[in-house]
Amino acid sequence: MTKYLLLLFIVMAQGQNHAAFDGPYIFINGNKLVEKKIINNKVISKTLETSSYDTIYYSEKSTFHKVSKIAALSDIHGQFDLLIRLLQNNKIIDKSLNWSFEEGHLVIVGDIFDRGDKVNEILWFIYELEAQAKSKGGRVHYLLGNHEYMVLYGDLRYIHEKYNKSSKLLNLEYDELYSNNTILGRWLRSKATIVKINDIIFTHAGISKDFIAYENFNIEKINNKMRQSIPRLKELRKLRRSGKSNNFYDMYFGKNSLIWYRGYFEEQLTDSDILKILKLVDADHIVVGHTSNEKVVQLYNNKIIGVDSSIKKGEYGELVFIKDKRFSRATLNGELIELK
Ligand code: ZN
Repeated sequence: MTKYLLLLFIVMAQGQNHAAFDGPYIFINGNKLVEKKIINNKVISKTLETSSYDTIYYSEKSTFHKVSKIAALSDIHGQFDLLIRLLQNNKIIDKSLNWSFEEGHLVIVGDIFDRGDKVNEILWFIYELEAQAKSKGGRVHYLLGNHEYMVLYGDLRYIHEKYNKSSKLLNLEYDELYSNNTILGRWLRSKATIVKINDIIFTHAGISKDFIAYENFNIEKINNKMRQSIPRLKELRKLRRSGKSNNFYDMYFGKNSLIWYRGYFEEQLTDSDILKILKLVDADHIVVGHTSNEKVVQLYNNKIIGVDSSIKKGEYGELVFIKDKRFSRATLNGELIELK
């Protein structure tokens, strides 16, 4: 068992007394790595071998072909325990939290951050699972949602109060715990916001007509633009909030952007509107999170799949399982129900 998994078990075993435990947060300090953990409300620091972690993370690829099976879920919002149950019961991971989805792809369609109190645990778990999956011919895709970007641009309104305590103890703002001088921060900055697997596009909130009208649709280019904008995001947001218009910010981070749009669920779109969007983006289906439902849902004749199954409440959750062009809800108990 790896060190992260061992740590996760310790964290899980702490049960209710969670506020006093957090981390690790690993800071890159020149050519040193400094690990900080909070144990019993105290910060424990340790210098690590520089070889303990990669410090360079290359941009994730944006398109994948011939993938035999896919599972996707979203909006985990710090609900580590429920996430583990859902993945175990659907055989994505085994009892020891190791990858068991073979050459399948698991897509986390954004929003691990905010609301709940086990965000850091989930990030390390996904970090570890990603490497395991790759070594088995599978893949984990962690797409950035609006709550990832909110933390990256310093909008900290939704963090759990535990993280206010952690930040105070570590003498940093919460977003600095994921800055570009941290291992998880660099890893996050390499992630995609939109990915295409076979003929299916995955993105946190959806692709609006406005977005495609603004941008010639090229997934690789869109991901790169979003990655490259991260260092300027705080400044762009400030300018926008002071009333200065900024088309780029509005289209990429505004209400009809890939990370905030709710149109598939809230606007009166027709099947033919959806077919037009799909044609422009050269896909047969779009899988989104962000808008919460009680379970995984399909809209517009299975063209749009909504995977935010309200895991954030900490009670129940589902994922979508895709194989041979068939879409099924995978329930918390591991039952498959075909979407129709
Ligand atoms: Zn969201």
